[in-house]
Amino acid sequence: MQLVRQKGNKSQQGHRYAAGPRGRFGVAVAALLVAALGTACGSGDSGPDKAAKAKAAKAAEAGAAGALSAAEKAKAAQQARVVAAKKWGLRKTPLAAPPAPKEKPEITTRDGFEVEDQEEYPNVFTTVPTEDKVVFLTIDDGSEKDPEFLKMMQELKIPYTAFLSDYVVRDNYPYFKKMQDAGVTLNNHTLNHRYMPGLSYEQQREEICGQQDTIQKQFGKRPTLFRPPYGNYNQDTLRAAKSCGIKAVPLWNAEAFTNRMDYREWDRDLHPGDIILTHFRGKEDWKGTMPDMIRHVMKTVTDKGYAVARLEDYL
Ligand SMILES: [Zn+2]
Repeated sequence: MQLVRQKGNKSQQGHRYAAGPRGRFGVAVAALLVAALGTACGSGDSGPDKAAKAKAAKAAEAGAAGALSAAEKAKAAQQARVVAAKKWGLRKTPLAAPPAPKEKPEITTRDGFEVEDQEEYPNVFTTVPTEDKVVFLTIDDGSEKDPEFLKMMQELKIPYTAFLSDYVVRDNYPYFKKMQDAGVTLNNHTLNHRYMPGLSYEQQREEICGQQDTIQKQFGKRPTLFRPPYGNYNQDTLRAAKSCGIKAVPLWNAEAFTNRMDYREWDRDLHPGDIILTHFRGKEDWKGTMPDMIRHVMKTVTDKGYAVARLEDYL
């Protein structure tokens, strides 16, 4: 890492935590229970009281049926995951992520990662402030294009975000179109994967805006997230990124390989909201396949009690 760091006292604390919508099922089931008890005990009732009770029971039933079918849906989804996890050789079934937060967390630039006048530029962060036991999977570059990987992720329903560098992507745009069609957001990792601080402002702008244009042209959507190659940047990088329409610069707090994890923090552990980096790499790069890498990172994530959530849900 050769991050350009400025001294700053901006605290990482003070983030709002947005709780997800919880307890709906409990309320509906309780209502049904009360209605059922009322029906059982009030068999001798008559008149408007009985009519009102019947109406309440019917409403509670309708509400509970809706909630139960949602619960059943979640159960069916998890059962499908159990099957997919076995099929793809995962030791444990991945945990289901909680619902997307209703209120997005307030993100600030990580302490020590600021450039001069940081407040004018997109924030640079390695962890999303949340109390949810979730981490985020981000995959960079794009040289390896393994169809098995697309199939695996779709069947396991593990969300991830891609940061694409055009020089390794351009020989097979349809592969990444399939990825996008499966719900993956394609973000900006520059045209040619250069060391940004070694370039002039204009050159950096070409690398970043050029990739914005390419992704828009090939995939119909202009990215809002940018990750500088190697995590290296200076003020010109963030200034250029902003001028190209970039809203945020997520780096990472852990990196996944086929046989190990690297951690940024001294505790060598995952934390709620951590962004995990990995790469589109194949056997020649790291003696394993993309599915091997996913099996390893998911073992780590699940063993530690985390679910993989969608980064875009929190930004
Ligand atoms: Zn890269």
